[in-house]
Amino acid sequence: MKTRAVDARASKKSGNGVEEPSQAVDHIFDGVNREYQEMFSVFDSDSDGLIDKHEIFDLLEKSGILLNDARIQQTVEAIRKFSSPKINFSDFKATIGENSSLFKNIIQQRLIIPEFQTFCEEIREIFETVRSNRSGKVADYIPELGRIDPEKYALSVTTVSGQRYAIGDSQTPFCLQSTSKPITYCLALEEHGREKVHEHVGREPSGRGFNELSLNHKDLPHNPMINSGGIMSCSLIRSDLNLADRFDYILQAWSKLSGNARLNFNNPVYLSERETADRNFALGYFMREKKTFPAGSDLLQTLDFYFQCCSIEIDVEGLSVVAASLANGGVCPISGEKVFSSTTVQNCLSLMGSCGMYDFSGEFAFSIGLPAKSGVSGAVMVVIPNVMGFAIWSPRLDAQGNSVRGIEFCQHLVEQYNFHIYDSIVVDSSKKKDPRLKKNASKIEAVVQLCWAASQGDLFEVQNLISNGANPDGADYDGRTPLHLAASEGHEAVVLYLTSKCRNISPVDRWGGTPLSDAKKSGKLQVIRFLEEASLAHLAGNGASALQI
Ligand code: GLN
Repeated sequence: MKTRAVDARASKKSGNGVEEPSQAVDHIFDGVNREYQEMFSVFDSDSDGLIDKHEIFDLLEKSGILLNDARIQQTVEAIRKFSSPKINFSDFKATIGENSSLFKNIIQQRLIIPEFQTFCEEIREIFETVRSNRSGKVADYIPELGRIDPEKYALSVTTVSGQRYAIGDSQTPFCLQSTSKPITYCLALEEHGREKVHEHVGREPSGRGFNELSLNHKDLPHNPMINSGGIMSCSLIRSDLNLADRFDYILQAWSKLSGNARLNFNNPVYLSERETADRNFALGYFMREKKTFPAGSDLLQTLDFYFQCCSIEIDVEGLSVVAASLANGGVCPISGEKVFSSTTVQNCLSLMGSCGMYDFSGEFAFSIGLPAKSGVSGAVMVVIPNVMGFAIWSPRLDAQGNSVRGIEFCQHLVEQYNFHIYDSIVVDSSKKKDPRLKKNASKIEAVVQLCWAASQGDLFEVQNLISNGANPDGADYDGRTPLHLAASEGHEAVVLYLTSKCRNISPVDRWGGTPLSDAKKSGKLQVIRFLEEASLAHLAGNGASALQI
């Protein structure tokens, strides 16, 4: 306010009518003020200059932004502090303060999933459908995993806009097991770069079990997503530190990626892992014999570090934030902190996409088409790049060691939504939903594109759009259809094509015009002839497609 008063006093027009800087500042100020006013009026439905503070909280929750989201803590606390249930414009403006961009995005439905509630309801339905699948068996190679209730079941999703949703046993911790491997690999990449890391670990799917005693033709682990590769990544992380500090280092990365989620260390799991780790020891000795480890590595310490990483505990809520941080190119969406470089994440997602689901990875890449990583605790994290991250936890595993329900959930997910990475090139992917669009946005956009192509006489694009599902009878806000536009511009080939596709060849726009009257108005004789003949043919029930140019 002080700044405005000073500026207002200084405000003058120069002789030539050009605004002086103080006036420009005033304009910016007015623009900002108007934006706050617009936001305020969304809540102030009865225009009495007061809004119910719970409406703000309701909108946040409906949009998927949790009230404990670190980004809006100050705002939420400030709103709570008001003693009265209603707040006026200046209080609103003062409290929204530094979160104004986020609020603006929420109000204008510009978060990545605009209809978040609908999306959550649909996800819940899939979750419940999958619950009935009781096949598979809980891992029992250590007693701690064998004792887990097989009925445990949880799911959480976090979007790159920080929208969150969780169902089931979503706050019950489980150990990371192999879901730790992508993050261990990212840390190795951040420290050494891709070339150095891949001197020690390959990047091909192994096609074998996750703990198979085998190396590739260069005597390297096949990839960082199986046990040998996970052990190798561990050997590459902060070997200058003692074991306690190395563990702390990795825990900090998990904490940042998960937006400060609850993390535990399960000591019984760790002790059991170490006790029963003959195969992992064998892999370690095998790699040491082949001189695969970086110089100076201590094998027993490396294995210990690996068992510790497997024994970190998290819940699906936290793991979905980690998946979302990967989806978001290494930036945690609920804290805004950059944890990994985007190229590190790109490398990691590439390998999750080809190797993340053990020896089911090829089939998963084919049919689900998303980077994912599973662990023998029954956890699966799935990344939809630039959109969201999912975490599913259900302890019963299939023969490959993947969570049975986790896999089934993913299958339903890509059946309903266009999330498979190659859905974008499928002609009829319109059958799948795109939750990134506002309600009807895809239909509206298709009509706009079709009208534009028709007005330009771009027959190829018109055909392309219609065969991709655009409705040839669709109209814009004024009732103008592609046929109106093609007719008034005299694009004969497009008119002919559209008359063969439209159900109604005499649509009426808001001014009472039809394609034929438009063609007459602009004197497009050929088009007038087509349309008159087409009308007759339609009337005679022959359809217009028999017409020839
Ligand atoms: N602790 C397990 C092991 O090393 C991790 C493997 C997994 O989750 N697939 O055998």
